[in-house]
Amino acid sequence: MIDPCANPELMPFSDAKQQLLASVKPIKKTQMLAINDALGRVLAIDVQSTLAVPGHDNSAMDGYAFYLDKQPSCTSLKVVGKSFAGNPYKGEVNLGECVRIMTGGIIPDGCNTVVMQENVTAREDHIVINHWPQAKANVRYAGEDIALGATIFKCGHQLTAVDIGMLASLGITHVDVYKKVSVAIMATGDELKSPGERLTAGDIYESNRFALHALLSKMNVDIIDLGIIGDDEQALAEAFLLANQQADIVISSGGVSVGEADYTKQVLESLGEITFWKIAMKPGKPFAFGRLSESLFCGLPGNPVSSVVTFYQLVVPAIEKMQGKHPTERPRFLASCQGPLKKRPGRMDFQRGILSYPNGQPIVSSTGGQGSGILSSFDQANCFIILAREQGAVADQEQVWVEPFDYLLS
Ligand code: AMP
Ligand code: MG
Repeated sequence: MIDPCANPELMPFSDAKQQLLASVKPIKKTQMLAINDALGRVLAIDVQSTLAVPGHDNSAMDGYAFYLDKQPSCTSLKVVGKSFAGNPYKGEVNLGECVRIMTGGIIPDGCNTVVMQENVTAREDHIVINHWPQAKANVRYAGEDIALGATIFKCGHQLTAVDIGMLASLGITHVDVYKKVSVAIMATGDELKSPGERLTAGDIYESNRFALHALLSKMNVDIIDLGIIGDDEQALAEAFLLANQQADIVISSGGVSVGEADYTKQVLESLGEITFWKIAMKPGKPFAFGRLSESLFCGLPGNPVSSVVTFYQLVVPAIEKMQGKHPTERPRFLASCQGPLKKRPGRMDFQRGILSYPNGQPIVSSTGGQGSGILSSFDQANCFIILAREQGAVADQEQVWVEPFDYLLS
């Protein structure tokens, strides 16, 4: 049987994503930040190293530095000095001599090899080598980590914790990054109440704005929370106008399905160009999208699961593009499905699944009821099971595509 909500006119998911991304322009404004404040921010310029790292050939071990060709030429070496990290040995080291050296200590002139201290017997002024190292062993060479002038990070790179350490290792104190994207969020619906308020007949607690707020708070954006807006033309118009003035992206939830669409439509059309899409995806068929005079607009469906899934699958890539970030594809791979899955041809499914590797091979099972209002379908879930539009029900042990949740949903 065909999905009753599907028809051939529904927009393929990939077209919706492509159109949305095509209309996004990366933010232009940049700012200079101290590296300690730059975690998760997107570089607005290429970063080149003005240093070689390490700056000098140095020891990878605590031991003794000396010169070794192919064969050892003697059994003991005279200790002529010390080279400690930050305190190098300044003289020349001749054949038959060595220098006590600690990890990070500069390899003295005339040396090319370090023997570990565990492999020598140390006497008063000389050492006896019990296990000879290979020539050139235990030496870290200048520039082996980062060469002078190398491009370390490209414009569009999002800085990780280790990147911040790397910038510090190059002596860089500040970086040019794109300014934060500002995102306005609002929930629409007369039935919605905030947690903490009293519910009267027909009311429900509003959850979409809270989930969106939490998701966005992981994304290095500025959040403008416009609260709950009733199903009222005037109130909606005022909220959208304010959002359009303040934000780069305006996200609303609710009021985009058939029946309500006309209402939001009137308001939005006076502010810009909006289309109401019917996307061949489940959950999340209704989705509004367009440009307001100053901002991009995404209208998510009101059902809680639909709003999270459309945000994650469609809006997140758009925000990332606006942030100036290089596009990243989330990895997908095949897993063996444990138990059958319900599915009718007609829409692409994003079912919530539990992925594990009991014998080293990926297996996945459903979290149970997959209704678009069943937020608990995310309990235990760690991946989407992605089923193609034309696919029908899935049999036990069939291979299905899975997409593990990224940092946003875990
Ligand atoms: P709508 O898209 O406005 O037709 O809403 C579809 C369903 O989602 C209805 O049952 C709404 O009550 C519910 N809903 C809409 N907005 C929210 C929200 N912010 N939080 C929780 N449920 C909502
Ligand atoms: Mg509504």
